[in-house]
Amino acid sequence: MRIAIVGSGFAGSLLARVLAVQGHRVSLLERGTHPRFAIGESSTPLANLTLERLARRYGLDDCYALAAHGRWILRFPGIRRGLKRGFTFYRHHAGRPFAVDGARTERLLVAASPNDHIADNHWLRADVDHHFVRAAIAAGVDYRDRTEVTDELVESLRVDFIVDASGPNGFMARRLGIPSGLHRTHTNAGLLFSHFDGVRLFPDVVPGLPSGPYPDDWAAVHHIIDEGWMYSLRFDHGVTSAGFVLKQRLPGTPDQMWQGLLARYPTIGALFGSAKSLMPLGYKPRIQHRLTRAAGPGWALLPHAYGFVDPLFSTGIAWSLKAIERLALFFENGGPAADDLARYDAMLAAEADQIDLLVAGAYLAMAHFDVFAAQAMIYFAAVSFAEARQRLARQDSETAAWSGFLGVGDPQLGPLPRASFRRLGRMRTREDRRLFIQWVRRSIAPRNVCGFANPDYRNLYPVDLEELVRRHAVLGMSRDACVSALPALRGNA
Ligand SMILES: Cc1cc2nc3c(=O)[nH]c(=O)nc-3n(C[C@H](O)[C@H](O)[C@H](O)COP(=O)(O)OP(=O)(O)OC[C@H]3O[C@@H](n4cnc5c(N)ncnc54)[C@H](O)[C@@H]3O)c2cc1C
Repeated sequence: MRIAIVGSGFAGSLLARVLAVQGHRVSLLERGTHPRFAIGESSTPLANLTLERLARRYGLDDCYALAAHGRWILRFPGIRRGLKRGFTFYRHHAGRPFAVDGARTERLLVAASPNDHIADNHWLRADVDHHFVRAAIAAGVDYRDRTEVTDELVESLRVDFIVDASGPNGFMARRLGIPSGLHRTHTNAGLLFSHFDGVRLFPDVVPGLPSGPYPDDWAAVHHIIDEGWMYSLRFDHGVTSAGFVLKQRLPGTPDQMWQGLLARYPTIGALFGSAKSLMPLGYKPRIQHRLTRAAGPGWALLPHAYGFVDPLFSTGIAWSLKAIERLALFFENGGPAADDLARYDAMLAAEADQIDLLVAGAYLAMAHFDVFAAQAMIYFAAVSFAEARQRLARQDSETAAWSGFLGVGDPQLGPLPRASFRRLGRMRTREDRRLFIQWVRRSIAPRNVCGFANPDYRNLYPVDLEELVRRHAVLGMSRDACVSALPALRGNA
């Protein structure tokens, strides 16, 4: 088939390459050029699992290398990235330094990998996206950059199918006039962001922290504040990508907003006070977007062209890769039929809702750190269950690609984000909060393979393989089968 893909972020470029490997004639059309700055950097175990499956199925060795930190450094030292061992959260209070206070310390660490070698990565998108474009060209994709994609151009290419990978407010939305579906999205936040040099390490600023399952800063770090939250992603070459995600616009210029927040939260101020912004601080008023359709006859949108909720829980890359795998499977069999596209459309809609409900619930929970930590457990239970099933139970590509993201379609996990969002909206008293935390623990139990929401961990969750083996029945596996499958967790079996 002849296929045009509009937009050459990592998602468009990778799909273009896969389709070219399958034997299709693919044009990849980019308005800008590479290398270029892009945001959306923190990868996750589920993203890496999909990369590994794509690597195996389509012979993309580089994707296998890029799916784990140690392999990445050995094979592609020139593509910049950051070690990501897990998810770190702190709650800050205005006017007060972060307090180390025994079990009441408002700190949550959830390890995503047991060591640095097989850890996840933050992707320096300028380098990573450039790599994927070059690999697409090497695979025979007809790449055209600095190209204004017009109807005439698309007509002249005589394509059978168009994939829109052009991000928010992208090509197909305008071409087809697809109505916005943003009214469905509860999450509402703006973004103040840049890349920085010289951000200090958290334990240097806050001494006396009990040691966690990994060094706090080698993670997607989330600083929760009254106004929203801040992400901080450290790359191995010393640069940090950071941004405040804000429920309401603050007064002043981006620089004044930034300085105001550093002054209000002394520990964040100490971390970033002497850091140098590597480009002017940017401000985007509302980062959420959403369309009402993700596919139709002869076209499909990749997730970032269809909708985006929030960087909380780093869902974007994993979701995009999942959609790439789905579309790639369609094109193995001569291209998507109408039923396939309807299924793709329905799945993306359900998944966008799911991400939104989980994140919007997390915003409601942020006022109380124990409630927030409980809400986060729904995310961690869903992704770790999916990861364990995909790796240990060796799901094939078809099954893994179509298992819904964040528990969509799962009778146990599927309803939880909506139910928790409703509960959080009604929460008033200390007793409500206690009951919510109990409810989360009970609700995730049927899928909880990692011992989440267990107070014994004191909010410091390692990758606990013994716990995983103890929970073998949750995965529908015998104990022996679970033990013998464990090497697969390291991505090498
Ligand atoms: C603040 C923020 C933080 C995020 N953090 C994370 C995170 O930590 N982890 C995570 O997993 N995800 C994160 N995301 C989501 C992540 O950014 C996206 O999932 C990812 O960028 C999607 O990649 P893509 O290749 O689909 O699109 P994009 O990266 O948006 O690339 C689109 C490409 O299309 C091109 N283009 C646009 N319009 C046209 C046109 N008309 N014609 C031709 N070309 C066009 C653009 O130049 C660009 O090269 C974040 C998003 C935001 C907004």
